[in-house]
Amino acid sequence: MYEASYYNKLENKAVQCTLCPRNCIIDEGKFGNCNARRNRNGILSSEVFSKIAAIDTDPIEKKPLYHFYPGSQILSVGTTGCNLHCVFCQNHAISQCNNRSPVLIKTISPDELIAIANKTPKNIGIAFTYNEPVINFEYVIESSRLAKMNQLKTVMVSNGYINPDPLEMLLNYIDAFNIDLKGFSDTFYKKYTKGTLKPVLETIQQIKAKGKHIELTMLVLPTINDDEKQFEAMCKWISRKIGPNTVLHLSRYFPRYELNQYPTPAELLFSLFDIAKNYLNHVYIGNMATEIYANSYCPNCGALLIERTYSYINKKGIDDLGNCLKCNKNVFENI
Ligand code: SF4
Repeated sequence: MYEASYYNKLENKAVQCTLCPRNCIIDEGKFGNCNARRNRNGILSSEVFSKIAAIDTDPIEKKPLYHFYPGSQILSVGTTGCNLHCVFCQNHAISQCNNRSPVLIKTISPDELIAIANKTPKNIGIAFTYNEPVINFEYVIESSRLAKMNQLKTVMVSNGYINPDPLEMLLNYIDAFNIDLKGFSDTFYKKYTKGTLKPVLETIQQIKAKGKHIELTMLVLPTINDDEKQFEAMCKWISRKIGPNTVLHLSRYFPRYELNQYPTPAELLFSLFDIAKNYLNHVYIGNMATEIYANSYCPNCGALLIERTYSYINKKGIDDLGNCLKCNKNVFENI
């Protein structure tokens, strides 16, 4: 048993988990909503600590992170469970199952994870991804603490559904985040994710306030979260609260899990891209073969900085410090 870091003890051996905004009250023997935390005799335990469902070395662009050490490789790891339940989840085989699932393929302790990371050629660090890392909080903290001692970078790909205190703790150890901003209405979040929007917006602002690298991803669901006015309001909010240089990835949806909608038409992605570019300097289209919309351009002079195809990165217009070779503007902080 690995005792959870954030919970309160209640009467009759019940507990309240305070890790994420669900704040589940869990009776003795029962699991929380994420299927990753269990009340064991009045003690809240993380049931997924060191239990691994997926581990691989990925291009950092696949997270996606486009402005954080572009072209590098990162050891990526995930377990099972999630504290949201999106009907369109693209990773539901591991996110919407429990810790008794056969998809949990092996046990890897934080020490062992660091040893693998150190042995992996050309690897810059560890990315906690595939399922929701928040619900494996203790493993992320312990592994990241060791990663920092080993000069490894740490990345988290998350739905941003976490309470402020545990997030503050994570911010001591995580270098870069990709946060899903799945839509810009609470009605959408409640109906399609079984969560709420406000905590996600607060997480994004808290990460930014701490000065950590942050990129945002929106999976574009045709007819569901693609209202142009709402999307424009989201882009304005990002620009005003997080800054016009915030990276926004628009990702193409394919039918998965419980939502059987048609794949996002390319024209819809192009049209939302044009709206976003009125407010944000760095907008990308992902999950679709489109070179122009995946390339990085200098917001100052328009020069092509980085060419991207699925697996090919060419840093043709940028120096090792992240400066545009044409106008010398510093565009990337981490390169
Ligand atoms: S982390 Fe899991 S158990 Fe804890 S409040 Fe969130 S959903 Fe509930």
